[in-house]
Amino acid sequence: KFITFEGGDGSGKSTQSRLLAEFLKEKDIDSLLTREPGGAPGADEIRELILTGEPDRWDAIGETLLFYASRRNHLRLTIWPALDAGRWVISDRFADSTLAYQGYGNQLGEAAVRRIHEFTVGDFVPDLTFIFDLPAEEGLQRTMGRTHNEDRFEKMDLGFHERLREGFQEIAQKNPDRCVLIDATRAVDDIQQELRDILNARLLS
Ligand code: C5P
Repeated sequence: KFITFEGGDGSGKSTQSRLLAEFLKEKDIDSLLTREPGGAPGADEIRELILTGEPDRWDAIGETLLFYASRRNHLRLTIWPALDAGRWVISDRFADSTLAYQGYGNQLGEAAVRRIHEFTVGDFVPDLTFIFDLPAEEGLQRTMGRTHNEDRFEKMDLGFHERLREGFQEIAQKNPDRCVLIDATRAVDDIQQELRDILNARLLS
């Protein structure tokens, strides 16, 4: 099974994906925890390219192509081999992030991102996607409070974060069989319990 975690910056998905991987381990399910951008040779180098440098180095199209080049390696070298070997894969971010960030946030539009997506990924989709939903102001505040602010994206404006949130909400609405919107304002333990309940109901029963 392939499970993805999506949402804005500071929404807590990295912590929650780690905790869910521990849950699978307790259940004796062999799983791999990975992340985007990155997660494979080549993909990690592209992550550096994307996240560093002056803010306007890439435009939305260039950025989207980089995310997809990195995703292609992540799929080919990490995700698909693991799934073929019968392992579960949990990814902290996947394709919905590109649609939300570049398509909605950077206003490249849904159609453009879809064209690149179909060419690169085809019809491969996650079995389950958790979309972490957080008011734009709160996400912005949480990332501002981080001690290390390694990348050039986390200084984006409120309008961007609002479009991003709407994008993620729309993705959840349009794909109800695959996606579950998670209220990310709650306590860590409460959120994790909800994820485990959903996983039990959808993939383990
Ligand atoms: O999730 P993580 O913090 O590792 O993401 C790294 C950075 O890349 C974040 O600042 C995120 O906003 C940004 N990003 C992006 N477009 C994507 C995926 C991530 O701008 N498609």
